[in-house]
Formats: sequence, structure tokens, C-alpha cells
Amino acid sequence: MFCSNCGKELIGAPELCLNCGAKPLAGNNFCHACGSQTNPQMAICPKCGAKLAKAIVEDISPKSRLATTLLAWFLGIFGAHRFYLGKTGTAIAMLFTLGGLGIWALIDFIFAVSGSMKDTEGKVIKNW
Ligand SMILES: [Zn+2]
Ligand SMILES: [Zn+2]
Repeated sequence: MFCSNCGKELIGAPELCLNCGAKPLAGNNFCHACGSQTNPQMAICPKCGAKLAKAIVEDISPKSRLATTLLAWFLGIFGAHRFYLGKTGTAIAMLFTLGGLGIWALIDFIFAVSGSMKDTEGKVIKNW
């Protein structure tokens, strides 16, 4: 195999690359199967067709999922959770429509509890 971080050929499947010290499968600069250069957007190596371990880094919001969920549940129709997340525009819209007569608030609650709600910067609220 090859180190997907630095492209060096490795014997066996070592935990760490002897050349760069990174985990051989953690990088996204080289194909681990043939050693050809790849870029982070590629899901499959264009040369050998090997599946590349795509390092998906999800941006996690520092906001509390518990607070978002509770606010969405108890004060959702007033847009309280959206105020909490800094989404003032939609929060006000929610306040005036009473959370889309509860439907919008309910959808937000489901998003919040399942950890799919996003803050103003597009970071997911995952941490409880
Ligand atoms: Zn390496
Ligand atoms: Zn390859």
C-alpha cells in the first residue's frame, strides 16, 4: 500500500507511515492502492479505481443541541431556538407566523433532536 498522506510506498499495513508519521489511510493526497496523486474531492482513484477514504470533516457548532431541542420544543412557535442560534431573520418570521402554525416549529424540533439543525455559519448542532 501507499501512504495517502505523503505517497510513500509502505510494506504491509502499518498503523503509522514511517515517512511522514501520519495514519496511512487518513490523508487524501495520494491513492493508498496505487500511489498516484489524488485530490480531496475525489471519491474514487482515477487511475486504479480504488475507493478513496474521503475525510469528511463535519463542522460542528459550539451551540448546545440540548438547548436548541428544548427551546424548539417549548418555545419553538416563538422561534426561540432560532434566536438562540443567531438566525434572527427566520426567528422573527417564525414569531409572526407562530412557527408556521406549529408545523415549521415541529420540523425544526425534529431537526434539532436528530442533530441536523445548523447555526448561522452552517455548522451542525451535534453536541448535546
Ligand atoms: Zn506518509
Ligand atoms: Zn489508485
